[in-house]
Amino acid sequence: MNIINVSNRLPITIKGEDITPSSGGLVAALEGLPKDQYSTKWIGWPGSTISDTAHERDIEKKLVDELGCIPVFLSEAEIAAYYEGFSNSTIWPVLHYLADYLRYEPSWWENYLSVNQRFADTVLKHAKEGDLVWVHDYQLMLVPSLIKSAAPELRVGFFLHTPFPVYEVFRCNPKSKHLIVGMLGADQIGFHTVNYLRQFANVTQRTLGLEPELTRIRNEEHTSALGVYPIGINAPKFEATLDSSEFKNRVQELRAVHDNKRIILSVERMDYTKGILHRLDAVDYFLSRLQSTDDLRFVFVSVPSREGVEEYRVLTEEVEARVGRLNGKYSTLRNNPIHFIHGSVDFTDLCAMYAIADIGLVTPLIDGMNLVAKEFIACQRENEGMLVLSEFAGAAEELWQALLVNPYDSASLAETLKSALAMTQQERSARNREMRERVMKYDARHWARSFVEDLQSGSQFAVASPQNALGEIRERLLEVYSQKKHAAIFLDYDGTLREIEREPKLASPTPELTAFFKRLSRQEQCEVTVVSGRSMEDLEQWVGGYPFGLVAEHGARWRPAKAGQWEDLDEGLEYAWKQDILRILRLYQEATPGTFIEEKRSSVVWHFRTANEDFGEWKAYRLAEELAALTANDLIRVRRGKKIVEVCAAQVSKGAAVAKILAGMKSYDFALCAGDDQTDETMFQLSIPKLWSIKVGSGSSSAKFRVANPAALRQLLDLLAQ
Ligand code: UDP
Repeated sequence: MNIINVSNRLPITIKGEDITPSSGGLVAALEGLPKDQYSTKWIGWPGSTISDTAHERDIEKKLVDELGCIPVFLSEAEIAAYYEGFSNSTIWPVLHYLADYLRYEPSWWENYLSVNQRFADTVLKHAKEGDLVWVHDYQLMLVPSLIKSAAPELRVGFFLHTPFPVYEVFRCNPKSKHLIVGMLGADQIGFHTVNYLRQFANVTQRTLGLEPELTRIRNEEHTSALGVYPIGINAPKFEATLDSSEFKNRVQELRAVHDNKRIILSVERMDYTKGILHRLDAVDYFLSRLQSTDDLRFVFVSVPSREGVEEYRVLTEEVEARVGRLNGKYSTLRNNPIHFIHGSVDFTDLCAMYAIADIGLVTPLIDGMNLVAKEFIACQRENEGMLVLSEFAGAAEELWQALLVNPYDSASLAETLKSALAMTQQERSARNREMRERVMKYDARHWARSFVEDLQSGSQFAVASPQNALGEIRERLLEVYSQKKHAAIFLDYDGTLREIEREPKLASPTPELTAFFKRLSRQEQCEVTVVSGRSMEDLEQWVGGYPFGLVAEHGARWRPAKAGQWEDLDEGLEYAWKQDILRILRLYQEATPGTFIEEKRSSVVWHFRTANEDFGEWKAYRLAEELAALTANDLIRVRRGKKIVEVCAAQVSKGAAVAKILAGMKSYDFALCAGDDQTDETMFQLSIPKLWSIKVGSGSSSAKFRVANPAALRQLLDLLAQ
C-alpha cells in the first residue's frame, strides 16, 4: 500500500545544486512502517524559493527520482503570507491559547487557501486508487476537505501536531469555521492527547452544530473518526548514538568543559510558547537565594525559529537582554551561571548534554507534545538526571514521574529545582527507569504504525453500497413474507414514510401513503410500529386508524398496536430541568420576534421558522452553543433540527423505545428499523441480534442499508404487502 505523506516541509535541504535528505522525526516514524506492506511518497515545500522554472523542473526530477519527494514550490510572497502570516501568526497563537499574539490580514488567508489548494491538487495528481493520504499539521488544515470533495474514495488522514484549544480561544481565528470544515474532510483525525480531541469535538459542535460521538463526528456526507496518538522519539537513533564511542568522548569532553558543575539544561526553539521568559524569572528567583552560584550552570539551547515573524524577533531580543542582565547580576570570577546558545547544536553533542545534565528543565507555557522531554529521558540510560516538566506539555500526560510544575509560578518552579537537585540517586533512577521504558517503547514508529493502521481499517463507518445492500435485504424480506415469519418493523414517519413538507402541519398521509398503509395492514405476521418525534395527537390523527403501534415524542410515549391506551416509556425520569431550560428559551423568545416555544413531555423546543431567517439562524446558533456549554451532563441533550433548537431528556430516544418494545415481544424472526435523521441513529446503533437498519436519503449513518427516498422505502416494503 502506498502512503502519500503531505507536510508543509519536505524532509530535505537544498543548497545550490546539492540536495540532502534530513532525518526529522516524521521520516524516522514512517521508516518504521513494515517495508513489505507500505511504500511512502512525500509531498511538501522543498524549503527554499527557486526563481526560474527550468531549475524547478531539474530539482523536481531529482527529488522524485532519487528521494520519492514531490515538491510544491512556493514563492517568497507565498511563504510570507501563507506560512509566516496565516499559519504562524493567525493559527499558531490560537492553537496555543495565546490569542494576544494573533495577527490577521485578509491577503494571508487568500494565500493560505491557494497554497492549500495547490497541495491538494498535487495529491490528486499523484494519488492512485487505494492509496492512503496522510496530511500533517496546522499549515494544511484545508487540504483534507479539498481532497475529499474531489476524490471521495481516497482515504485521508490528518494529524495535528499542536494542542487544540477550547472553543472560546479557537474562535478568535477569523476563519475558524473554515479550518474545522477543512479538517473534517479527513476520514481519520489524530491528536496527541484525549483533551485535545475532546476540545476539537466540542468546537465542531459549537461551530457547526454537529453532535460528536465519543470518537467520531458525522457530517451530512461523511464521517471522521477521531483518535489519540501521542508522538514519540526516534528511539533507535538515540539508542545507537548512546552506544557509540563518539558519544562517550563527547560526554567526557563536555563534562570537562563545564568543569563538573551541576548542569540544568533547557533545549527548545526560540518560541513564545516555550516559556523562556517565565523560566528566566524562576532562574532569577532561584539564583537570588543561593549562597554561591559557582558550582552550578544553566545551559539554554534556543534554536532560531520563524525569524521572519515580528513576535519571534522581539522575543529573541528580550531573551538575550534578560540573559545578559542575569549574568551581569550573578556572574562571579569563577562562573557565568547562564550559558546561552542562540543556535542549533550537533546531534551527538545534544545527546551528550542531555546525558550529563543533572536536570532537564522543560517548561513550555503550552506544548502539543514536547519531544525534548522524551529525548532527555532517553539519554538518561546511565545517569540519573531529573526531568522538571511543565504540566502544560502534552508529554506530561505520559511522563508523570517527572517533577511537574506550573511554568507561570516562578517561586514554586525555583523550589522544585531545589528539590530536584536534592533528590536521592535511588529515587531519580527509579523514576527514570519507568519513564525510559515507556519512551523507548512508544516511539515515533509506534505512533506512525497506530495512526496508519487506524486510517487503513477505519472503513467500518462507511455505509454499505445501496445496490448490494438492497439485494440482501430484499431476500430477507421475501423470506419473512413467503414463510410467514414473524417480523417487527419500526418506521419513522417524516422523511421516511412520508416526504418532508416545508410546513410540518401539511405532512398528512398522501393517497399513495394511505394505500401503502392499507397493504401493510394486511400482513398479519408483521408487527409495525411508527416511531416519530411527533405528538400523540398528530400520530393518532394520521396513523391511528391502522393496526400499527405508535411511538410519539422521540420515544417518550407508546401506544401498542391494537390498544387504545398510551403508555409512558419514560417512567421514573425527572423533568425538573425543563423549568431551567424554559427560562433561557423565554429570553430568546423575547429577543427574537416571531419565535415560539413548545413544551413536550420529554423535551422543550424553540421554533424560529417564522422569525427573520438570518437573525433566527444566528440566534439559534448562539442558543444551541450556550445550551451545549451549560448542559454538559448525562441528563439532557441539545439538538439543532430543521428551524428548531430542542432540548430533550437524554435517556428518552427512539432507540431506547425500540429496545424496550422488542424486549417485551415473545418472539420474532426478523426486525427492521428505518429512519432519515439524527434521532433515528439511536435505533441504528442498537446492537440487537436480528435487527436490521435502513437509512433513508443521503448523509452518513450507522445504518447497514440505504434507500434514496421514502418512495424507495415504500417500494422495498411493498414486497411484503404485494
Ligand atoms: N533540536 C534540534 N536542534 C537542536 C536542538 C534540538 O533539531 O539544536 C530538536 C530536538 O531534538 C527535538 C526538536 O528539536 O527533537 C524539538 O521538538 P519539540 O517537540 O520539543 O518542540 P517543537 O520544536 O516541535 O515545538
